[in-house]
Amino acid sequence: MAQAVRTRIAPSPTGDPHVGTAYVALFNYALARQCGGQFVLRIEDTDRQRSTSASEAMIFDALHWLGLDWDEGPDVGGPYGPYRQSERSEIYTIHAEMLVASGHAYPCFCSRERLDELRAEQKAAKGRFGYDGHCRSIDSDEAARRRAAGEAHVIRLAMPTQGEIVVRDLLRGEVSFAAEQIDDQVLVKSDGYPTYHLANVIDDHLMEITHVIRAEEWISSLPKHVQLYQAFGWAPPVFCHLPLLRNADTSKISKRKNPVSVNYFRRAGFLPEAMLNYLALMGFAMPDGREEFSLADFVEAFRLEAVSLGGPVFDLTKLTWLNGKHIRELSPSELLRRLREELLGDRYLLEVLPLAHERIETLADFFSYTNFFFVGDVEYDDAARTKMVIRERTPPQTAKIFRLLLEESLDAILDWSAESIEEALRSFCEANDLKPKELFMPVRIAVTGRAATPPLFDTMAVLGKEICRWRLRSAAETLRTMKA
Ligand code: GLU
Repeated sequence: MAQAVRTRIAPSPTGDPHVGTAYVALFNYALARQCGGQFVLRIEDTDRQRSTSASEAMIFDALHWLGLDWDEGPDVGGPYGPYRQSERSEIYTIHAEMLVASGHAYPCFCSRERLDELRAEQKAAKGRFGYDGHCRSIDSDEAARRRAAGEAHVIRLAMPTQGEIVVRDLLRGEVSFAAEQIDDQVLVKSDGYPTYHLANVIDDHLMEITHVIRAEEWISSLPKHVQLYQAFGWAPPVFCHLPLLRNADTSKISKRKNPVSVNYFRRAGFLPEAMLNYLALMGFAMPDGREEFSLADFVEAFRLEAVSLGGPVFDLTKLTWLNGKHIRELSPSELLRRLREELLGDRYLLEVLPLAHERIETLADFFSYTNFFFVGDVEYDDAARTKMVIRERTPPQTAKIFRLLLEESLDAILDWSAESIEEALRSFCEANDLKPKELFMPVRIAVTGRAATPPLFDTMAVLGKEICRWRLRSAAETLRTMKA
């Protein structure tokens, strides 16, 4: 009997749920569903500094919202658990020791200073950066003694040093890499935690994943992964690297140029089925050329081998058009249900209401006073544009300040509350020689489109991080091209 197809999505919970994660999850989901196999969610939280449970919860939430349900995962369990890498440390340690014992991996005692020096020399010689194999020749008994004596070390994979390493990708066929270009990858860090490479390969094998479908950016890791499979004596899965989503200028999709958090699309009023439809189009064309289709249609028609490798451009205008088409497919009662579920849901309305309560005189005032809470983008009229420019700065200078504010301050806020927003804005003013008054009004206009609003920090908290960041970006774009 053929082996049942098992696919997985393996996100690292280090930020907002990314649209790229949704894209990769969709293709993994489609293959598993089509073949009657299983789709697994594994949380790759080996980066202890950057992983947070809030981010993990947002990933679950985003995938549920999209309707990409998984058969096994940290929240639903399953026969191959645990499905959170931080709960699998022992498994990695045992396997790393197996590789050291078989000579496929070795302890490396090089100090940070030595590695820094090496890097500086390589830089001066304009050579390739990489570990020089210094500890590879240490006799294994001596290495064991030094480890037993508690000397700080990492474990590295002994890669072939010469020749070509040939790997196979389902969409690209054979891809070869010159062995000398590939480093002896660290498998276990000095704190005993595994790196992505070690944990990922061990888990894919132990969880009996048959198809590793992931983003193109991982293809450069493939020689290391294939070497790991060989070292363990395991048969590798099928590898399939999906083309990266791109910005309009064809660079890798980034939050500087696109909204990339699934949370943004949800709050801006996109339908999950339109998102999935659009993401499917990024890598696959229906045999009949249809652009609008359901998840079920996609699962039925999808062929992994037919994924196209052209760099798909994530185009917000096209997604919006497609969303409109899906909205028109809904019955009036279903449309009402969707509105009630998202923008007009009690939870959200109860956050907005207190901000308007003291300031409205009729019930109808509520809508004119709070309309910017219920739209995706806001328009800036002439008066707003003028007032959005920071005093004694030009429009492009203001645009730059908005971008700095995002990148150096707001992006880093994990708990998006009125208090943390206020603190971030005030310290940004101090660090950049701005008076709070000079900055707050332009920011208010950027995130709401108007000068009279409820208190700024509460307003931003309720709008949510993703809507605020995207509006600040759009405001910066408007200002960048505006005449002083
Ligand atoms: N943790 C990796 C990520 O977040 C997984 C990559 C893979 O699928 O192997 O992208």
